[in-house]
Amino acid sequence: MRDCQSFNDALLAKIGWRLLNNPNCLLGKLLKGKYFADCSILQATEASVMSHGWRSVLIGRDLLLKNMGWTVGDGVSINIWQDPWLCLNKQERPMGPPSEQSVDLCVADLLVDGGAQDKLIWSGTKGGEYSVKSGYYVAVEEEPDTRRNDAGFNWKRNVWALDCAPKVKLFAWKLLKGVIPVGERLLERHIEVDLRCKRCGNNESITHLLFQCQFAQKVWQLAPLLPGMDSSGMLVLMVVWPSICNQKSLLPAGIVNGSVVPWVMWSLWKARNRLVFEGFSASPEDTLSTAIRMAREWSLQSKPEKPDTSRSRKPEMIAPTGTRIVRSDAAWSASSLTAGAGWVILSSPQNMTFQQHLEFVASPLMAEGLALREAVLTCQRLKLQHIRFESDSAQLIKCLSSNETIAELHSVVFDILKLSEFFDSVSFVWLPRERNVEADALAKGDLAMFEPLVVGEIVNALN
Ligand SMILES: [Zn+2]
Repeated sequence: MRDCQSFNDALLAKIGWRLLNNPNCLLGKLLKGKYFADCSILQATEASVMSHGWRSVLIGRDLLLKNMGWTVGDGVSINIWQDPWLCLNKQERPMGPPSEQSVDLCVADLLVDGGAQDKLIWSGTKGGEYSVKSGYYVAVEEEPDTRRNDAGFNWKRNVWALDCAPKVKLFAWKLLKGVIPVGERLLERHIEVDLRCKRCGNNESITHLLFQCQFAQKVWQLAPLLPGMDSSGMLVLMVVWPSICNQKSLLPAGIVNGSVVPWVMWSLWKARNRLVFEGFSASPEDTLSTAIRMAREWSLQSKPEKPDTSRSRKPEMIAPTGTRIVRSDAAWSASSLTAGAGWVILSSPQNMTFQQHLEFVASPLMAEGLALREAVLTCQRLKLQHIRFESDSAQLIKCLSSNETIAELHSVVFDILKLSEFFDSVSFVWLPRERNVEADALAKGDLAMFEPLVVGEIVNALN
């Protein structure tokens, strides 16, 4: 009963989200005229006389307000003190109180010049767009999890038919049954353990271990998946399982036949056990490449009658003649928040290579975006007209080549697309990590010059 209520609220919030992003639709104009003529729907208050419909919209709106924030573009829409804009995944404002003179300041007043427009985002999804699923999770969050029963879950299709090793299927089944002995589960069975995650100290649940822990998120970010794992709102594994296992792999055909997703979960679990029992801490890159390696070995071994010939491999996409291929990569240092960017323009007899040092870079993903932006600027300077940009960051390529958005990349993707209008033809293509070695080496080389400790962890994802 409670679930129905939450789901209903989540649907109502969807209406609110549409009205917010599309204020000129007919319904938006009608409601505005009647109920919030002088302000936005976010500030609208209850009227003494109002329709049932409008009351419902307000309920959904209130759900949105709990979990919305701004991503900064030009900063003119955002009040420094009143709007949440400091953090992408929760609502955070600067500590006040503001002085008289600063009370009306906008974020634009802090910036040197403009860029993309500010954008209101929903914190429950990675892309910042509201979805009913994530709204539902926020709505039920106040209530401690009631163990959902699995009536209607298709075990045969969702677990036993997976194209992966039996041990991984069994592991998947245990995950969904909630019998993997993570800290939280052991505690429920009254076994004395330290129930915290060894990596971050948060409560170790199955969803934490596999999706919400920073470490797991890094592994998923590196994984070449389409549309990509959005683990921020993921709370009920059984609900999201079919869609996460249907993620398309961006690996070249023939490397892995089935979904790589169960293998990644398996590898996360193995990495966790090595940390807990042996004290060995693998990197996210290692954890992912272990998963891909095991999936590949399984693929080869389970289909011996289908040899890995050139026929079963997809031919590589050939760019039209005259198109330059430009590859970029970045190496990022968490300790100094700096990055090395490297990019290569393929040409004969010798490739043109570039590198640059970048400061104040918040994440490896941002570093990839900035590296590609530098590459775009170089191509502009050289007046190249037909270009294909290649990067091994699946997330970045997805944002550039589809409508997908990642709040963190909002402004850099805007810049890249804007700058790319200069070219006659342009495309953005994902490239496997191990084929991006030259740009990778440039990026690492640059970072190493500034920070000698970072080299030495070059991971070749497929070797
Ligand atoms: Zn953790």
